[in-house]
Formats: sequence, C-alpha cells, structure tokens
Amino acid sequence: MTASSNVADRAPRADVDVIVVGAGLSGLTAAHRLRQFGSTVAVFEAASRVGGRVSSAEVDGVHVDLGGTFVGPGQDRILALAEEVGVSRYPTYSAGRNVIRWRGEHRRYRGTVPPVGANLLDVGRIQLTLDRLARTVPCGDPAAAAHATEWDAESLGSWLRRSRASAAARDLIAIAGRTTWGCEPDELSFLHALHYIHQAGGLSSMLDTEGGAQEEHFVEGSHEIAVRLAAQLGPALRLSAPVRSIEVTDEGVRVSTADERVTARTVVVAVPPSQRGRIDFSPALPPVHTQMAQRWPAGVLSKAYAIYERPFWRDSDLSGQGLSDTGPVFITFDASPARSDGPGVLLGFIGGVYAREWDELPEPERRARALSSLADLFGPRALDAVGYIDQRWGAEPWVGGGPTAAPGPGAVVPYAAAVGAPVGPILWAGTETAERWTGFMDGAVRAGERAALQARNILASSSTDHEQTGAAR
Ligand SMILES: Cc1cc2nc3c(=O)[nH]c(=O)nc-3n(C[C@H](O)[C@H](O)[C@H](O)COP(=O)(O)OP(=O)(O)OC[C@H]3O[C@@H](n4cnc5c(N)ncnc54)[C@H](O)[C@@H]3O)c2cc1C
Repeated sequence: MTASSNVADRAPRADVDVIVVGAGLSGLTAAHRLRQFGSTVAVFEAASRVGGRVSSAEVDGVHVDLGGTFVGPGQDRILALAEEVGVSRYPTYSAGRNVIRWRGEHRRYRGTVPPVGANLLDVGRIQLTLDRLARTVPCGDPAAAAHATEWDAESLGSWLRRSRASAAARDLIAIAGRTTWGCEPDELSFLHALHYIHQAGGLSSMLDTEGGAQEEHFVEGSHEIAVRLAAQLGPALRLSAPVRSIEVTDEGVRVSTADERVTARTVVVAVPPSQRGRIDFSPALPPVHTQMAQRWPAGVLSKAYAIYERPFWRDSDLSGQGLSDTGPVFITFDASPARSDGPGVLLGFIGGVYAREWDELPEPERRARALSSLADLFGPRALDAVGYIDQRWGAEPWVGGGPTAAPGPGAVVPYAAAVGAPVGPILWAGTETAERWTGFMDGAVRAGERAALQARNILASSSTDHEQTGAAR
C-alpha cells in the first residue's frame, strides 16, 4: 500500500491530499515533491500553458527564453531540479569586451566595472555601502532589521540622493534596478532593495555574469523544466482553469474554478502576490494578507530577442554584453545557442520607465526601437536581424508583470510577514515567499519545496488527529 493510499484511506472526504494553485516553477515543484512524498495532488493553472514567468519560443528554428533565463552559483535548488529532469546548461558567452553607451559616448571595456569617468570611485562607494547595509537585514525577515522602519520609509532613489551618490552611480543603480525589480529606484522600498541584495548573496553575486546569477543558461531552455514537470502530472494538471475561490472547511479546503470544485486537506497557492487578490477566500483572509496583495505589485520588465545569421559582434572581440543610459533597451546579453557555429542571438531588456512606454507600441515600432538600441551598442549590423521576437510581461494576464514583486516605501515592515505566513490550511509558495534567491527561478523552486514540506506536515498531523479520534471512539 502506498503512502498516498494510506492518507486517502484516512481522509475519505478529500478528493486529493493537496491542491496547488499556479503551475509556474514554484507550484510545479511543490506538486512534484508532494508526489514524491506519496501524496495525491491536483494542480490548477489559469493560463493555457505551464511555466508562468518562464516561457519559450522558437524563432527561425532558434530557441529563446522569454522569461527567466539565467542561473548562477549558489542557486542550488533550480540547478538540482534541472538536473533531476535532465535539462542541461551552458555558460553565458562573455569572452571579449563589453560595451557601454554613456552620456552620448560609446566605450568598450573588460570586466564588470563599466568606465563611467571620474565617478568610478563613487560607484564603488555606493556598491560597498549597499552590500554592507544589506548584510544587516535578516534573510526572510526584513522587518527584524535594526533600521527596518527607517529604511522602509524611504525609496532606493531617495537613499541614493541622501547618500550624495553621483549621477553616474544613481544611473547605474537605476539600470540594475530596472532589470532586478522592473521599476525605478524611487518606486522601491529601500529596505526591500537591501533584503533582496542580501538574500541573493550581495550585489556582485546578483548582477555579475561570471561568478554571478547570469553565469549560465539552459540548453533546452528554462521553460523545458516546467514542461517536463508538468508532463509527469498527467490529468492531475488542469490548464485554462483559473481558481476563483478557496473555501476553508472543517476537513480542509474546497477550491473552485468555473468548471470544477475539488476538496483537499490543504492548498498551496503559488501565484504572484498581486494575483492573490483575484481569488475569493472564504472566510476572508486576515486584512494584512489582503492589503499585502495590493501593496506588493509586479514590476515591469520586457525582453526583445534579435536573431542574426552569425554572432557578428564576436568578430570584433565583443561579448554581446552592453549597457546604455538611454532606452528602450538598456542592458544586453549574447543569448546565442550553445553550438559555436550557429546563429547569433542578442537579448535586450526593456524595464521600468522604458517598458511602460515601449510596451504600449505596436510590434513593428517595438522591433524598430529595440533594434535601433542594439545598433547604438553593436553597430549598424544589429539592424539586419533575420528574426525578432519580444515579450511584454505586463501584458500577461495571470502574471501581471515581472520579474518579481516590487513593494514601494512603507510596504515591507507591515506586510512582508504576510507574503509567506500560512493561514490555517492555506499555504503560500511562489518566488516572492523564498528566503533565498527570492525573485529568481531558484527562489521559486525553494519556495515550492518548502511549501511541499509544510503540506506534508499538515497531512501528517491531520492523519494523527484522525487516528487519535478513531482510538477515542
Ligand atoms: C523578463 C523576465 C526575466 C527574468 N529573468 C530571470 C533570470 O534570468 N533568472 C532567474 O532566476 N529568474 C528570472 N526571472 C524571474 C523568474 O522567472 C521568476 O522568479 C519565476 O519564474 C517565478 O516562478 P513562480 O512559480 O514563483 O511564479 P509564476 O511563474 O508567476 O507562476 C505563477 C502561476 O500562477 C498562475 N496563476 C495566477 N493566478 C492564478 C489563479 N487564480 N488560478 C490558477 N493559476 C493562477 C499564473 O498563470 C502562473 O503560471 C525573470 C522573470 C521575467 C519576467
């Protein structure tokens, strides 16, 4: 007899042991681990595909990751999961010089520090200060930092001004912030920025390619991890099935979509914080949870991919990594396939203030502006793309933006605990609930694994209760 049939025998009134809401990496990981523990699951996904903020496309036979892409050292859980499902990785191309377009000038440089003139020392000072302050914010509990209230009351932008950061340092942090949180420095709680930096292992670990979070990507694409996890679920996975309501009952939970009503002992809600507000909870969630869903909005980050016959920039000893103090594309990577003789692919990010304008444009205009940005960095050959695709995450109805939640000033101290705190049998997953690498694919996997353990504990304690009740009868 399997463990799952054991639990089912003791809990005849529940259709399954655990319901998972959301088939992004976090929900799929939770379901995968629960099945490995021997539990039965049902997974509801609102969209017509799995993966959430990981997605993929083929452009002229070239695979591109439209959402989460890169992984790096310390991201042990996504690396282990990828290995488990047979998805392999290869290094992000970084040989040669990087380019920067700064104050109207074009420069090439090696290493991680861009040449921003006389302000270089100040950039170093700001980076060191951010790293030092970040280490004082406890991972998983930012409100417990000694200066939590003070730091939460201001934005990353106001802190930069108060610290007399040079314009160069402010602009470089803005570039980093647009990619990391999809927002401008004035929109983000300074406490959140520090917490995020700490749990990602510091600014270098978070931002660097070699030795950092952009070091590698997946040969088959990150989306393939989600696709392979989903394939194991069979009919337990329901697509195009947005969960409308979650009702707490005496036996556990009742979860409803437009077509189905399923009961379970517990539910793992693995949707972005801002999407929780679209589910009708009964009884209503404690007010702090409802408020949190309103005050932890998604950032705005979009991606543009240009495909070329060859990675022509490599001929000029360029890595394909570029930075720009103008938009719409403000940071680039070489995302060419692993084969060295294959086509070339440039990936450009459009985030924060740039994304808000660019996302509204029709596709031909978005393409023209993205290629023009690439040409500013890599020369006119960048205009001769043989293929092009972009993805506007703000237009994804069940995700609402990316790469992650971006709480503004004042939204962390009162609400951070509600992001992951269970409410009776309602458990939360999703990258925003992770204590390490929150915002990243690794955080999504960690959170899914943690939620699976929490669900297993609930199942174990409810079967113990049942045995005790049975013994007392
Ligand atoms: C442009 C971009 C670039 C990124 N780059 C990187 C990177 O290079 N490296 C990295 O590590 N991370 C990156 N990320 C972040 C990474 O993709 C996310 O952290 C991760 O994929 C989040 O997974 P998740 O499962 O927590 O949430 P999601 O992927 O958002 O999954 C939530 C799921 O819930 C579903 N859902 C919502 N509401 C309901 C409902 N009511 N009922 C049922 N289902 C519902 C959604 O459709 C979605 O599928 C990037 C993200 C973006 C957008």
